[in-house]
Amino acid sequence: MKLCFNEATTIGNSTLEQDLILCERYGYDFIEIRLDKLREYLQTHCVADLKAFFAESRLKPYAFNALEGINFRTPQEWEELLSGLDLFCEVGKEISCNKVVVVPTNDVGHKTVNEIKASSLEAICAIDERARSNGWPMDLAFEFVGYPNLCVNTFGQAYDIVEAANMENVGIVLDCFHFYAMNSRWEDLERLDINKLFIFHIDDSEDLPVGALRDEHRLWPGDGAIDLDRIFALLKKKGYCEMASVELFRPEYYDMPAQDTIRIAKEKSIGALSGHWHIG
Ligand code: ZN
Repeated sequence: MKLCFNEATTIGNSTLEQDLILCERYGYDFIEIRLDKLREYLQTHCVADLKAFFAESRLKPYAFNALEGINFRTPQEWEELLSGLDLFCEVGKEISCNKVVVVPTNDVGHKTVNEIKASSLEAICAIDERARSNGWPMDLAFEFVGYPNLCVNTFGQAYDIVEAANMENVGIVLDCFHFYAMNSRWEDLERLDINKLFIFHIDDSEDLPVGALRDEHRLWPGDGAIDLDRIFALLKKKGYCEMASVELFRPEYYDMPAQDTIRIAKEKSIGALSGHWHIG
């Protein structure tokens, strides 16, 4: 099992340049690169700098985060979203990264589950087509968000969409926090085809009621209320041993020096995972 760092964990206290150095220093295998940090990085660096870093490092890129709000966009919002994809394709070609997280939209109004499914499939196909026309086909990892106002907010609803897409390059992101936050059903997770698990986000959560949790309530893996052992055991039983990416958004963790956030995130992740997998 490889360990990955999701840059959300240090949004408030680091940059891409610093995340790269620290993740290499603390021995992570992979990093998920955020769009906002990438854009900031490219104000003072070029893509060749990023390529050179990865060529010289053990650390490798795993995925780009994220194309957010893919449903029911105005033409202008859609163009903005595609500009993010175009950048990911341009950079991805250079650093050999061909996976991108795609996220549904919040506050869409009165839309049925079927309308949301149709709009998700339409968006997924359009994103796939644009990546291909950019000369860099991408794997699309669809991530449900466990907030009541997100239009796809449970594992089961997201997995129905991934199954309906029926495309080799479309899979799901399982984020333990999002799974817990809206009480996603274990029987839905049981039916996961493990080849469709494209990205695995690990974290933990404060013990708040369903519908009350937000990203800032995330905790270090193992420090909260999520039954991580049950999730890990289920994935292990299905033969999963690819990667786990630590993804936290907690303001207290942004108050620390980034090196401490990154070091502790690794220690806590290994602590939580090591009962199930050999890490490394
Ligand atoms: Zn996530």
